[in-house]
Amino acid sequence: MRDPFCITKIEAWPIALPLRAPFVVASGAMTLAHNVFVRVTLRNGAYGIGEMAPFPEISGEDQAGSLRVFPLAAKVCLGQSVTHFRKVAKQLREVAWQTPAVRCGIETALLDALCRGMGIPLWGLWGGADVRRRETDVTLPIGPRDQVVDTARAWYARGFRIFKMKIGLEVDEDIRRIEAVCAACPHSKFVLDANEGFSLEQASECMKAMERLRLPVMVFEQPVAREDVEGFVALRRSGTIPLAADESVRSVEDARQLIERQAVDVLNLKITKCGVVESMDIAGMARASGLRLMIGGMVESRVAMGCSWSLVLGLGGFEFLDLDMPLLLAGDPVQGGYAYEGPVLQLWGGSGLGMELREEASSVIVVE
Ligand SMILES: [Mg+2]
Repeated sequence: MRDPFCITKIEAWPIALPLRAPFVVASGAMTLAHNVFVRVTLRNGAYGIGEMAPFPEISGEDQAGSLRVFPLAAKVCLGQSVTHFRKVAKQLREVAWQTPAVRCGIETALLDALCRGMGIPLWGLWGGADVRRRETDVTLPIGPRDQVVDTARAWYARGFRIFKMKIGLEVDEDIRRIEAVCAACPHSKFVLDANEGFSLEQASECMKAMERLRLPVMVFEQPVAREDVEGFVALRRSGTIPLAADESVRSVEDARQLIERQAVDVLNLKITKCGVVESMDIAGMARASGLRLMIGGMVESRVAMGCSWSLVLGLGGFEFLDLDMPLLLAGDPVQGGYAYEGPVLQLWGGSGLGMELREEASSVIVVE
């Protein structure tokens, strides 16, 4: 019998997503996200969409590189049944292990197509462990103190109470900026993300200052360089604020090392770092080891973020949600799917991601 879930066509095309304001982190800045959209079509006519969100300063990947690798990765999937998505993801990892954004975009589109073909929402595929509305944090990029406080006040007025502050350039100024936002936004909580910007000494200094000032910091994310596992271990022994790994966890192997060394309290998962299926595997490892889970994204639209939100709803166990990126974009390339009500992510009707593209694609690379 001909398999109705056979993958018959995969397309990709570049998109540019302007940000409302420059996105500045310790390792670089971005004003326009150069991403790639993917569309998968199955024999039964069902289709799915996905997004590659390479962030050159963080992952070393870019749009041109993603488009170059795409045809090779897409050919691996053609003719296979999307019901075997774990097998396909493993094969994708073999040909595109250096370009996880490509794997993420294709895997998301495969899963969306499968669920549309089955008539279930994407989170339904994973068992619907935690299906409820959830609150996300909102990111405050690095900038002049007054400007960051103004931005924080505007989000606060819209109901946001968890701020993800980007730090990691200069400890004293970082601390003053956090204190200023704290004073301007009462009863807020903070996730601090240094994006590898600190040495161990600076990270220790920052930790001590936060403890001394009793700042309401829930998590201190990626204080030191990604390969500096021993730095994490030393910092975790000397401080009291939970530590999260982000850039340090880009594969199952990374996660295993961090768990074995007891280096962190929290893992920040992003499907762009290692694809969807490998993220699910890491989530399982983390939960089995007693680590707490955060989920975030790169600079991306609701397509990639909708897949991450589906992991939260479907797998359960995610404590920290950093799913605000689409709110920082100047436009929305899709309609339907989940919505934001202030900081709260809503559920959606419809199968898969439940989203449709607003504009027809151009400059499309077709693999069929
Ligand atoms: Mg981070």
